[in-house]
Amino acid sequence: MYIVSIDEEVCTGCNSCTEGCPARILGFNGEKAFVEGDETECMGCESCISVCPSGAVSITEM
Ligand code: SF4
Ligand code: SF4
Repeated sequence: MYIVSIDEEVCTGCNSCTEGCPARILGFNGEKAFVEGDETECMGCESCISVCPSGAVSITEM
């Protein structure tokens, strides 16, 4: 199981991470990305991490 989190203080709001999430759990509120679904539904694909220019996304394997 993986848990994804986004550090709002670090996110620059580029919105690069949301579209590529196969679990569709990343949302964008116009300023920041956030986890809008069940954070434990993260598949651990690291797509969001690879596209994030600021290192705001982190994944923890439980
Ligand atoms: S690691 Fe993959 S499944 Fe998990 S939040 Fe990021 S893009 Fe979505
Ligand atoms: S890719 Fe990174 S900086 Fe861009 S919206 Fe997502 S978390 Fe924020």
